[in-house]
Amino acid sequence: DLRVRFAPSPTGYLHIGGARTALFNYLLARKEGGTFILRIEDTDVERSTQESVDAILQAMDWLGLSYDEGPFYQTERFDLYKAKIQQLLDEGKAYKCYCSQEDLDAKREAAMARGDKPQYDGTCRALEPRDDDTPYVIRFKSKEAGVTSFNDRIKGTISFNNEELDDMIIQRTDGTPTYNFVVVVDDAEMGLTLVVRGDDHVNNTPRQIQIYEALGYAVPEFAHVPMILGSDKKRLSKRHGATSVMAYRDMGYLPEAMVNYLVRLGWSFGDEEIFSMDDLVEKFSLENVGRSAGVFNPEKLLWLNEHYIKTGAPQRLGELLGEYLTTLGYPPVDGIDLAEVVKTLQDRSKTMVEMAEKAVFYVTDSVEFDESAAEKFLTADQKPVFQALADAFGQCEFTPEGVEAAFKGVLKETGLKFGKVGQPTRVALSGGTSAPGIFEVILVLGRERTLQRLNGAIA
Ligand code: GLU
Repeated sequence: DLRVRFAPSPTGYLHIGGARTALFNYLLARKEGGTFILRIEDTDVERSTQESVDAILQAMDWLGLSYDEGPFYQTERFDLYKAKIQQLLDEGKAYKCYCSQEDLDAKREAAMARGDKPQYDGTCRALEPRDDDTPYVIRFKSKEAGVTSFNDRIKGTISFNNEELDDMIIQRTDGTPTYNFVVVVDDAEMGLTLVVRGDDHVNNTPRQIQIYEALGYAVPEFAHVPMILGSDKKRLSKRHGATSVMAYRDMGYLPEAMVNYLVRLGWSFGDEEIFSMDDLVEKFSLENVGRSAGVFNPEKLLWLNEHYIKTGAPQRLGELLGEYLTTLGYPPVDGIDLAEVVKTLQDRSKTMVEMAEKAVFYVTDSVEFDESAAEKFLTADQKPVFQALADAFGQCEFTPEGVEAAFKGVLKETGLKFGKVGQPTRVALSGGTSAPGIFEVILVLGRERTLQRLNGAIA
């Protein structure tokens, strides 16, 4: 059975690239009825933080990427790693290295000066382990000749000459194990059958394969996903816009837009652009992941967001709108149904933040007036019209038909055209001229608020 994982290092927020890796793994697991594991790679205790763990978990939750096992924390598994390192030492597959940092630096510089690739030269390979307290690291004895290759599910066969791979450190001087070692122990012990990750890890893979073999583990399959680039074809960074997934939530993006966007950074399915999570579980496959880098395109993300806002269920968007309004300082109020508010705004908002800004007038009792609109439309000669409207709305049935009939009655009574009454009324009720249709606004506001605002304009 398929077993995949997402293995973030908690050294910052969940960024676009990490989220895409998580999504690809999630989709593969769901598609094949496999298992999706979350493993927090926190062995770098200096740089790992609890805030970052929380941020990653929150972002996965927001995107809807539920996992079946975990989260596992590598810092809770040090005993296992120690035992495995001891196994390699006992079997002569790893050794203690006493080289000082100064010696290593000097050799490194000399190699670079000669134009050679700096590699550990194996000085301590054949040394007898010492019995004193000289600090040491533990190195893995990598193969000196031959080729290590693997068949990458995205990139095809990738081969490395073993002589290019030096004896890497698997345990630091402070006794902590290193990434390339623990990732193998964990991937093997957790029974992973496929490792899907960013292609910045391609060069680690041959080293990891040698460790699998040395520990007698089965080697999983690998799929290395191409990087994400900015529009200038440089690696995606803050210069290209926000790279944190949750920053997009804060900017008013919907998770389904983000998921749809992320999957298309590297994967395609004919000319189709719109994919729900269910579609993706059905359609996603590694065969359609491209070999070239995905290019980050904020306009497309915005376009998708607009699509999902336009087509979203008002009830759910209403709940989200409540959260965005609260953030703006306008918590939900009695008598205003936010799902109804959504219906009036979902065709005119690209983000939930934009929708919330447009929705403020519904939920506040101190409407802010656009000055020029107020000057133009809230004039003294409007007062009798507002009075007539207030009388009519005070008595009518408060239904779409009732409100419209009441409004038309006022037009008849005053002999005014629709626009002459509609636009001032819109300003009186919403503070500006760009609110949704006037009947929609009136119905969402309800009788009480409509009358209050008309009366306020008369006073
Ligand atoms: N923790 C590694 C990272 O965040 C990922 C390791 C892996 O996927 O093998 O880059």
